Amino acid sequence: MTGRVILVGAGPGDPGLLTRRAAEALAQADVVLHDQLIPAEALDLVRAGAEVVDVGKRGGGEQVPQDETNALLVRHAREGKVVVRLKGGDPFVFGRGGEEALLCAEHGIAFEVVPGITAGVAAPAYAGSPVTHRGLAGAVAFVTGFSAESDVDMDALAAFPGTLVFYMGVRTLPQISERLIAGGRNPDEPAAVVERGTLPDQRTIVGTLAQIATRAADAEVRAPSITIVGPVAALHAKLGGPLAGRTIAVTRAREQASGLAARLQALGARVVLAPAIRTEQVDADLPDLGGFDLLCLTSPTGVARLFDLVRDARDLAGPRIAAIGPGTAAALRAGGIDPDIVPARSNAEGLVEALAGVAVRRVLIARAEEGRAVLPDALRERGADVEVLALYRTIAEPLSDGDRTAALEADLLVFASSSAVRAFHAAAGTLGGSSIASIGPATSATIRELGGEVLIEASEHTPDGLIGAILQASA
Ligand code: SAH
Repeated sequence: MTGRVILVGAGPGDPGLLTRRAAEALAQADVVLHDQLIPAEALDLVRAGAEVVDVGKRGGGEQVPQDETNALLVRHAREGKVVVRLKGGDPFVFGRGGEEALLCAEHGIAFEVVPGITAGVAAPAYAGSPVTHRGLAGAVAFVTGFSAESDVDMDALAAFPGTLVFYMGVRTLPQISERLIAGGRNPDEPAAVVERGTLPDQRTIVGTLAQIATRAADAEVRAPSITIVGPVAALHAKLGGPLAGRTIAVTRAREQASGLAARLQALGARVVLAPAIRTEQVDADLPDLGGFDLLCLTSPTGVARLFDLVRDARDLAGPRIAAIGPGTAAALRAGGIDPDIVPARSNAEGLVEALAGVAVRRVLIARAEEGRAVLPDALRERGADVEVLALYRTIAEPLSDGDRTAALEADLLVFASSSAVRAFHAAAGTLGGSSIASIGPATSATIRELGGEVLIEASEHTPDGLIGAILQASA
């Protein structure tokens, strides 16, 4: 048995930026030694039974000394294991990956390197700042912020004909800008600090080289952050996305929030998650569907639960199937079912309308426990025999103080359901004087009932419709 070490870059934080090769290495690993700054989702790719060690921080909070990490690498590899050394960004860019590769070489241990997407390229990119740009920057230098307090020739850096990208420079930002200006760099040159780049709550602070340290301090910027100095930093204004500079709080359940959050982030918004609800399975038995001529699904969560309960796909062959919302329809199609009816308006009223000319005798509505009475009432009124099957319920969850404050201070508070409004109101105690975006009239009514004011209401009652309405309102 010969062990080996794979030095793997996990990218800057967005799990979508993990490479395929990184995923393969994680699936093979017997042992994973990882740093603090890695996407949490990366560890989901580790096979069950593998040993996972956080060498970023110990219980007490202090860093595990490099010697100890080295000893672990060598010991596990010698025991014949596949050891993945997982690091944020790229292992060879300020990651001490080179030292660990040398250690392997010295001990005759086989090793491989899986490059990762480095924060110094990815964080500026997500902020709308290409690190090189024809006519603006013909070169880029990656620098550690420690250079401002070491013997690095800051005058030479000041004279560098291109973009300067500083890692680990939050604390030393005042010295960096001061010494660059002293070295002859133009104080009016654009600069930007990108905090938590590629993560949903990425934030960008811009200013001139002379202003940037004060602005970052005023905004209480924290690590991890990348500082960019150069004309490309000003492209943030044009390429940072239509929602750049805006903080948007998403109140959906965590398991439902990621799509909406990712799309808002891709448009440049800083997204804070304030999930005051979560979904919980309800024990349910699926009745024999043979007796029904219509099955209504109202959410992707409901579809997922339905598929859990169906043991034989042929059980679904009898009734016609209606889906409220394109997300629900897409979830059905992903499971091999093409819904017969998808109303143009994505709410219960829309489905009632779409069913106007359809004869139904016996209907099963499979959905959340707390769903509204609109659909069953309307169908009963038409003489149908309606059964409602609760597949899940949404339950209120307390908000942490941090999440509550961040949500109430956001530029926009987004609600995609009445249950989210009620839960958020219960957890936060108020809807505040916040600007609020709502997915549709039913959600808006709940917002108003609880004392909130609706600034934006989507005319298409889907996450995409909500995003469209937000974009329109901020154009
Ligand atoms: N090997 C890593 C860098 C490790 S040094 C890479 O290639 O990205 C740690 C520094 O990287 C942090 O202090 C910060 O400057 C930067 N960094 C890492 N992740 C970041 C992120 N998501 N956003 C902004 N900067 C980040």
